[in-house]
Amino acid sequence: MPIINRVADLSDEIATWRRDFHENPELLYDVHRTAGIVAEKLKAFGCDEVVTGIGQTGVVGVIRGRSNGSGKVIGLRADMDALPIEEATDLPYKSRTPGKMHACGHDGHTAMLLGAAKYLTETRNFDGTAIMIFQPAEEGGAGGDAMVKDGLMERFGVQEVYGMHNMPGLPVGQFAVRPGSIMAAADRFSITIEGKGSHAARPHDGIDTILVASHVVTALQSIASRNVDPLESVVVSVCMIKAGETFNVIPQTAEILGTVRTLSPAVQDLAEGRVRAILENVCAAFGAKATIEYWRGYPVTVNDVEKTSFIAGVAKQIAGESGVDTAVQPMMGSEDFSFMLNERPGAYIFVGNGDTAGLHHPAYNFDDDAAPYGVSLWAKIIESGMPAR
Ligand SMILES: [Zn+2]
Ligand SMILES: [Zn+2]
Repeated sequence: MPIINRVADLSDEIATWRRDFHENPELLYDVHRTAGIVAEKLKAFGCDEVVTGIGQTGVVGVIRGRSNGSGKVIGLRADMDALPIEEATDLPYKSRTPGKMHACGHDGHTAMLLGAAKYLTETRNFDGTAIMIFQPAEEGGAGGDAMVKDGLMERFGVQEVYGMHNMPGLPVGQFAVRPGSIMAAADRFSITIEGKGSHAARPHDGIDTILVASHVVTALQSIASRNVDPLESVVVSVCMIKAGETFNVIPQTAEILGTVRTLSPAVQDLAEGRVRAILENVCAAFGAKATIEYWRGYPVTVNDVEKTSFIAGVAKQIAGESGVDTAVQPMMGSEDFSFMLNERPGAYIFVGNGDTAGLHHPAYNFDDDAAPYGVSLWAKIIESGMPAR
């Protein structure tokens, strides 16, 4: 029995909600309309508690099962925000706001979790408490972190937490997941090297920042080749180097910008430590001075091993053994559900979105046929994770 029958019955309604969100995209924390509709619907469904304003514009719905002998509390999370992209589709429900669109399918994620809330409030066929988490600002604003900092986990007693993202290229009706790291950490650095400007014909009077910067860039590549275990993953990319104006002046300063992508916190720490040490010591060797700003972006998204095998088992109830890839390759993109997984064990899974343009592409669209699978997964996580007595 793949899709839950009642969920299949709800699919037209879920598609209507999704298309309304698609038509009215909102960015980052400014998801007032979307969050308002979410809160209103959760109340109308009969959620036991609906709390707004968590992490600025986040919304939480609490659904209690028929009994609570287990004392278990499971959180399900969706993201609500769109992207600053001009939509390039001819859909009847195309974005009405120029320069904004749902190009990552968060319209579908929000509608799917609403669908699950409707089903779960109707049936309550579980022993414990389900927490529906709707977060703002996944696309670069760390809304997941904001909700965590606002006490999300403690306030609702969340014990484990699950996230789901649609995946273009994966057939509708299939799922993909992996234990351990599934999405990368994305950090950034900005370096300024201060030397001593001089006449190009009198280099011995100066400290050549271009030479120093070149040595720094070269040495940074030893992090991947000499510091990190070859079986681990790291990317160190210098993407901007700026120094000098003309052909006969040795410049006083040089600037370097770059990014570091990693799949484990240990490698992330190692890479940052090495970037700093290489910079300081290479510059010292030449008598130059360096300053660095190093920003940690979203952390690595790490799936708990046991919760991954749980969610994979639930997904197989829906998609069958062959419809669930349990060893999908990790992605070097990042995801702020990582902040929630750093707080509580859980897993992040991909649901097939079929043959559409890629995520963040102006022609992307969420496939409404994917929703019944995602909603069934949400419902079965609750019903299998906290079975009714
Ligand atoms: Zn995205
Ligand atoms: Zn996304």
